[in-house]
Formats: sequence, structure tokens, C-alpha cells
Amino acid sequence: MKAIVKDAPNYGAKLVKVDVPKSLEPHEVLVKVKAVSICGTDLHIWLWNEWAKNHIKVPQILGHEFAGEVVSVGRDVSLVSIGDFVSSETHIPCQHCKQCRTGNMHVCQNLKILGVDMNGAFAEYVKVPEIVLWKNDPSIPPIWASVQEPLGNAIHTIFVEDVTGKNVLVTGAGPIGLLAIGVLKTAGAAKIIVSEVNDYRRDLAKEIGADVVVDPRKESLVNVVKKETNGDGADVMIEMSGNPQALKDGLTSLTNAGRASLLGVYDKDVQINLNDLVIFKAIRIYGITGRKMFETWYRGADLLKSKKLDLSKIITHVLDFDDYERGFKLMEEGKCGKIVLKL
Ligand code: NAD
Ligand code: ZN
Repeated sequence: MKAIVKDAPNYGAKLVKVDVPKSLEPHEVLVKVKAVSICGTDLHIWLWNEWAKNHIKVPQILGHEFAGEVVSVGRDVSLVSIGDFVSSETHIPCQHCKQCRTGNMHVCQNLKILGVDMNGAFAEYVKVPEIVLWKNDPSIPPIWASVQEPLGNAIHTIFVEDVTGKNVLVTGAGPIGLLAIGVLKTAGAAKIIVSEVNDYRRDLAKEIGADVVVDPRKESLVNVVKKETNGDGADVMIEMSGNPQALKDGLTSLTNAGRASLLGVYDKDVQINLNDLVIFKAIRIYGITGRKMFETWYRGADLLKSKKLDLSKIITHVLDFDDYERGFKLMEEGKCGKIVLKL
């Protein structure tokens, strides 16, 4: 089968022929992949940054955001059947630890990640344990179904508390920030203010439905947010940039007793003035990892099935699988929203 493989500890990845995964464990499932979407994590592996060097063993097949069809099942599989149209959660839980047994599988103590700790889905076939599979409604196109995992990140980040009728600041309109704007529209946020340094993505944010877009290098984010919220500041901050300055400006822009949900991942330790930005403002901060399994998936799938959420502007490129290098280059340049490769 064709697969995009990180074959050496340096920049890039190669399209090569590898064996279709053969033997299935009793609870494993083989899926024929129809669409895959490129995640920031894949880009990190492609670029071979510090994180990738410490986490990836080559050779390995990249990718974890996908949609496809079940073609073979292990002896004891009961959750899916051959022919089912599926996508998959990336976080593979042990199902035994305290978190797994208390509704927090997404932060399992023994978590394994598809496409990071094992071969991924940038291939014609991928092998996954049944526990992470999600049955898609046939009405959802495979290209849309393939982005439910990052969509789930946005949904999880947004809905840990109410956003309806609230002024929401989104810092960072990368692929997940853009998905967040779409979700915030469906949730009836009063005003969506988006901060983004990339021109292409600021324009896209506006098209998707941001009410106000800010280039924080050109104007003060704090001043814009104050002006747009009657001097009060934002009720909610959704941090999706992984940039320390965006975090500080965002917290400063929050109204007292506001809420911040942090999805962005920072390169190194971040220093903030906890007294002024959090404690005396009575801010609640949520750290967000992955998706709630499977509450977030129900919400995302239902938003797509009901056509309340339109991904056509958020998915900016649908490319042939063989054209993956172009996809990764676009990701590097940031001239894209979500990029999907179809097989
Ligand atoms: P991305 O890196 O593509 O997007 C980040 C965006 O932030 C970019 O468009 C960038 O231009 C913008 N940005 C950078 N500095 C900024 C600043 N000072 N102000 C405003 N915008 C700024 O990432 P993504 O794939 O959209 O993911 C969003 C973030 O979430 C990333 O940090 C990623 O690592 C993280 N992430 C976390 C989880 C989790 O489980 N916690 C899962 C997936 C992704
Ligand atoms: Zn566990």
C-alpha cells in the first residue's frame, strides 16, 4: 500500500510502498482510508523539530486525522462491522487507569497516540483498536469526517463553559482557531474577536464569521477588545496560538471573573503575572487536552450532520494523496486552513 513515511531523522517524509498491516489483535480493526487531514503534529514531525526528535521513532507512518471504511475486524470486535464508515479518536486509552474509569479517558495515564506512538493513517490502510473508532453518519462527506478530531479540540475548548451571548476572544486562527470560529457561530456567541498575525488567516477568520479581526503586531489587542466590549473586556478567551504574548494579552483583555481555555501548546515555560492577570481578576483557567471521549464527538458529528456547521471555508485545500508535499509546504507557509488529502 502507499504510505507517507517519516523514514529518516530529518526534514520531510516520503511516499513509499509498505505492507498492508497483516495480523489483527482480537480488538483491532483495519480501515481503508478515504481522506486524511494534516495536523500541526504532522507538520512538527515533517519539520523534525525538538518535540518530534524526542517522540518519534523512524521509520513511521504519519497521520491520525482520517475517515475511511472498515474492511476487516479482529476476533472480538463488537463495536464496528465491516463496511462501517468510521473516523477515529487519536488518544488510545488503556481503559484501566483511574482517569479511564472516571470519564477522563482523554488524559489516560497510559495514553498512546495514533501516528505518534505507532504507525498512523497517512496510508491506504490503518490498523486501530476498536475502542477509538467513531461511526460516521453516511451523509457526512469523508473529507469533512476526516477533520472531526481537530474539530473536537475546538469543541472541547469552547464548551467547558457557556459561550452563548458572550464576547469571546480567540487568539490564533490556525486550523483549530478557524474551526473554533465556526463552532462559536453555531453556539450563539455575542461577539467573536480574533487575534492572528497571519494575513491570510485573518482574512479567512473574517470570512468564516469573526466579527472583529486584529493583527496584534499593528494594534493593541487589549485596546481593541476593551473598545469592542464597552470597556469591560472579553468574557471568554480561547487560546489557540501557543504564543506567550497572545496568552498574556488575552488574559489582560479578559473581564474580571472571566474564563480562559488554553489549548495552545508553548515551546517553553511561560512567565505570567499570576497576581494581576489571574488571581485578583478571579479568572478561571482550563487546560484542554484532546477531546472528551466521546461527548465532544457527539457534538461535532451532530453539528455536521445537521448542517449547522459548514466546513467548506475552513477546509481550504483538498489535494490528492500523492500531492502531500504541497500540503505540507502550505502548512509551513501558513497559507491555509485545514488541508485534506484524498485517497
Ligand atoms: P497553528 O500553529 O497552525 O496555529 C496557531 C496560529 O496562531 C497560527 O495561525 C499563528 O499565526 C497564530 N499566532 C502566532 N502567534 C500569535 C500571536 N502572538 N497572536 C495571535 N496569533 C498568533 O496550530 P493549530 O493546529 O491551529 O493548533 C492550535 C494550537 O493548539 C497549537 O499551539 C497546537 O500546538 C495546539 N494543540 C493543542 C492540542 C491539545 O490537545 N492541547 C491539540 C492540538 C493542537
Ligand atoms: Zn487509562
